[in-house]
Amino acid sequence: MLYHSTRGGENSVQASQAILQGLAGDGGLFVPEDFPAFSPEALQRIPELPYHVLAEEILTPWLTDMRREDIARMAVQAYAPGRFEAGMPAPGSALDGKTFLVELYHGPTLAFKDIALQLLPRLMVNAIRTQRVDEGVLVVAATSGDTGKAALEGFCDVEGTRVGVIYPQDGVSPAQRRQMVTQQGGNVWVRAIRGNFDDAQSAVKAIMGDPAMHMALRERGWRLSSANSINIGRLIPQIVYYFYAYGQLCRQGILAFGEPVDFVVPTGNFGNILAGTYAKAMGLPVHTFLCASNRNNVLTDFFRTGSYSTRRPFYQTASPSMDILISSNLERYLYEKAGRDPKRVAGWMQALREERVYDVGGCLDAMTQGMWAGCADDAATLACIARTFREKGRLVDPHTAVALSVLEQYRQEARDGGRPAVVISTASPYKFSLDVLKAVDPGRRCEDDREASRILAGMAQESLPDAITALDTLPELHTCACEPGEVGGELLRWIGGGHAD
Ligand SMILES: *Cc1c(COP(=O)(O)O)cnc(C)c1O
Repeated sequence: MLYHSTRGGENSVQASQAILQGLAGDGGLFVPEDFPAFSPEALQRIPELPYHVLAEEILTPWLTDMRREDIARMAVQAYAPGRFEAGMPAPGSALDGKTFLVELYHGPTLAFKDIALQLLPRLMVNAIRTQRVDEGVLVVAATSGDTGKAALEGFCDVEGTRVGVIYPQDGVSPAQRRQMVTQQGGNVWVRAIRGNFDDAQSAVKAIMGDPAMHMALRERGWRLSSANSINIGRLIPQIVYYFYAYGQLCRQGILAFGEPVDFVVPTGNFGNILAGTYAKAMGLPVHTFLCASNRNNVLTDFFRTGSYSTRRPFYQTASPSMDILISSNLERYLYEKAGRDPKRVAGWMQALREERVYDVGGCLDAMTQGMWAGCADDAATLACIARTFREKGRLVDPHTAVALSVLEQYRQEARDGGRPAVVISTASPYKFSLDVLKAVDPGRRCEDDREASRILAGMAQESLPDAITALDTLPELHTCACEPGEVGGELLRWIGGGHAD
C-alpha cells in the first residue's frame, strides 16, 4: 500500500515513510492510494477475534512494508490485557435496547487517544528500522488535553525518540494538566502556550513545514515527526475498534451479521470519525456516522451548509478536547468525497488559510452522504450527563455526553429508522470531575477536582482509576509557558542541550 498527499505535491511513499514524516512535504496529509477491502467471508470472522488479533488482521494490509509477524507482536504489546484496565481496549455494553456504548478510555491515560498512541511509538521504531534512519526522531504534538498525555506516555523512554508536547495554557482540565506536567521520563518536553488549541496546532504545523527548522534539527542529528492525528499512523489503529464494536454487537445478538449500524462520534479534529469512515470503506456495514460537536460547532455548520468558516468566536467548553475550529482531518474526508482531486482540496485549504472560509458548493451532497452532524452546548451536555446517571446509573464524561445528546436529537427528528447506534465513549468522567459533579449534583459546592472525583466515585460506587489517584503524589516537573511562536526555538534549545529538562 502506498500513500500520497491530499494536495498532490508529493510522490507516493510507503507506510513507514508516511509515519516517519507525519505531514506530507506539500503541507497536505498522507492518504492511502486505495482502501484494503475485506471479503464478506473475512468480515464474518470478526466477532470471534480477540482485539489484538483483529488489530493484526486490519493493520496488515495498511502496513505492507512491515512484516506481519512484527505487526502481530506490536499489537500484542500495545493491547495486552495489562495495558488496559478493563482487560482490553474497547469493552462495550448496552445503554438500552438500541444504544450501545463502547468505552475506549481504559488505557494508561484514561482517554481514547491511548488506543492509537500505545501503538504509534512501536510503529515509529519499526519505521526507523525499515527506513534505515540513523537520526533520532523528535515527535511533536499539539494537544487539546488528551493527545499530549497519551503521546508522552506512549513515547516515554522509547529509544531513538524524543517527544515534545504543547497545550493551551487555559484550555485543559485540571486533571489533564496535572497528567502532563507530572510526566516522568528522560526524553519528554512539555510547554503550556499562551493561546488556544488552534494556535498550538498551527505552531506545530508551522514547525513541520519550516525548512530552516528541519535543517537545524538535521545538523543536530534529529528529524521531525508528529503524534497528532495528521499522522496516518495515528489513524490506522483507530479503524480497529469500529470493527471490534460491530463484532461485539453481533456476539451479543443486538445485530445480525451484515446489518447496518450507526456510529456516534464526539468530534474535534475529525480523526476518530474519519477512521470510522475508513472502516466503512473497508467493508464494515455502517449506515450513518453522527458527527457530534460542542459549542464550537464549525463542523455542524459545514455539513448543513457546505461552508466551512473559522470566522467565529472560539469557546472554552466542558469538553475541551473538542474545542477546535480547524479540524485537520476533514481534509482527508474532503479528498475522498471530492473525487480525490488534490487541486480542489489544495484550493479549499488555501482559502481557509487566507480567507478563513471555503465553500464546497456542489460537492456538499457527496459530503453528507452517510454523515449527519449535530451539536450540543454545555447546558445540554451537563443535562445529558445528569439524565444518563439518573436513568441508566452510568457516569459519562462531557465528550461522551455531547455524543449522546446529538444522538437524542437525531432520534427526535426520527432519522435513525430504528437502527441500533454505537456511541463512542472517549474519556473517563474522572478526568473532568468538576463539570461532571456539577451536572449530577448541582447543589454541591466543590472547587477541587480531586475532591470532586472522590465524591463521584462514591456516588457511582466505583473505585477511582489508579491513573487518577497516582497523580496526587507526583511532583510537577514541567511548568514553563511560552508564546506559540517561541516553540520552535525552545525545542531546538532542548535538543541542542542534549538532555531532557
Ligand atoms: C481527542 C478527543 C476527541 C475528539 O477526537 P478527534 O479525533 O479529534 O475528532 C473527543 N473526545 C475526547 C475525550 C478526546 O480526547
